[in-house]
Amino acid sequence: MTSDLLLPADFFGYESLLPEPEQKDLLALREFLVAEVKPRVNAAWAAAEFPMDLIPRFAEADIVGRPYDWDGRPRASRLFTGFQAMELARVDPSISTFFGVHSGLAMGSVYVLGSEEQRQRWLPSMLRLDTIGAFGLTEPEGGSDVARGMRTTARRDGDGWVLNGAKRWIGNGTFADVVVVFARDVDDDQVKTFLVEKGTPGYTATKIEDKFALRTVQNADLTFTDCRIPAQNKLEGGNSFKDVNKVLKVTRGGVAWGGVGCQLGAYEVALAYAKERVQFGKPIGGFQLIQELLAQMLGNVTASMGMTVRLSQLQEEDALRDDQASLTKSYVTTRGRETVAWAREIVGGNGIVLDHDVIRFFNDAEALYSYEGTRQMNTLIVGRSITGLSAFV
Ligand SMILES: Cc1cc2nc3c(=O)[nH]c(=O)nc-3n(C[C@H](O)[C@H](O)[C@H](O)COP(=O)(O)OP(=O)(O)OC[C@H]3O[C@@H](n4cnc5c(N)ncnc54)[C@H](O)[C@@H]3O)c2cc1C
Repeated sequence: MTSDLLLPADFFGYESLLPEPEQKDLLALREFLVAEVKPRVNAAWAAAEFPMDLIPRFAEADIVGRPYDWDGRPRASRLFTGFQAMELARVDPSISTFFGVHSGLAMGSVYVLGSEEQRQRWLPSMLRLDTIGAFGLTEPEGGSDVARGMRTTARRDGDGWVLNGAKRWIGNGTFADVVVVFARDVDDDQVKTFLVEKGTPGYTATKIEDKFALRTVQNADLTFTDCRIPAQNKLEGGNSFKDVNKVLKVTRGGVAWGGVGCQLGAYEVALAYAKERVQFGKPIGGFQLIQELLAQMLGNVTASMGMTVRLSQLQEEDALRDDQASLTKSYVTTRGRETVAWAREIVGGNGIVLDHDVIRFFNDAEALYSYEGTRQMNTLIVGRSITGLSAFV
């Protein structure tokens, strides 16, 4: 096995907790990513373009939809889908975000909130990646407080609904065939869930340019102007913000696992560089100050992996609490910023050159730190839980 296919930073052997067939699946994924995706990621990141030609290969590699029981095939374990998100981010946090949005948030919304008919209509083609999904929750004026500040409206009109408003930051938004859109029903003030299809009159998607983290992810500003959609595109079970949280509960672990993968990718680059780069007549990895950084990075990776493994185990038992998920996401992505900065430092001046494979992780860690709940929001959730006092306004 080449070093690319080993996981030497799994210092406590967490991977061995997976049943053997899932270990094999993980190795197959690693082989695919190293052979076909890794060679592409820097160019895609530099160009800020998604490698669309890889999408059929992603479908063949059986990456999509593993968290769901579907069509006679039982879902994978939560631990496996966690490791899967980690492996994707270890190679490229942008690619892992693409899957987090499509397979997690968009398919998850249809799976969790859709009727049987709606699932049958959408999920098979989403599984094949013939239909790409996006998830439109955040708004230009509604980020952390989107639950109470949502301005996009939905109005029942005859046999359909009319949407008006805007969404911001929507991953896959420029090319998605279907976007899950959350909008406040003007009649009962509840947040409801809709599917808006590409090409619907009144719907526009504009790429957010000049973004310097997760550059390969195509984030978009969406607008809805008297955008009329048929009644069957309202997800049957999406009737309040509590329902949005049902989807986020399934996907939440994936962001933390992506944060582990981002650290892992950066750590591995730094370790390899430290062994090869010679200064003062010996590899820099032989200097105590460099070893101290490497050991701290490994500590961060190991602690982060320990939390995410336990998070997945709790998810498997359907026992994961929101405060546990919040602590894990904020801890892992905070340690992540530290780890990628140390990796960049070890690679010296070369650390800011894209080809040296570390500046991408450095920048991407910033987006992981802020999306799907900033550190502050998650901290407020943990703070409320441990003190019994809410510091939310
Ligand atoms: C690359 C990327 C991809 C994304 N993809 C998607 C997507 O696909 N779909 C989607 O719906 N959204 C997406 N998002 C949006 C993301 O979830 C939001 O950026 C995030 O929720 C934060 O919202 P905001 O950026 O508006 O920051 P704001 O909410 O404006 O916060 C700004 C700062 O103020 C802090 N803050 C806010 N309120 C408080 C408070 N009460 N106390 C202390 N501090 C506070 C925040 O923590 C943050 O540091 C994406 C974002 C990025 C960057």
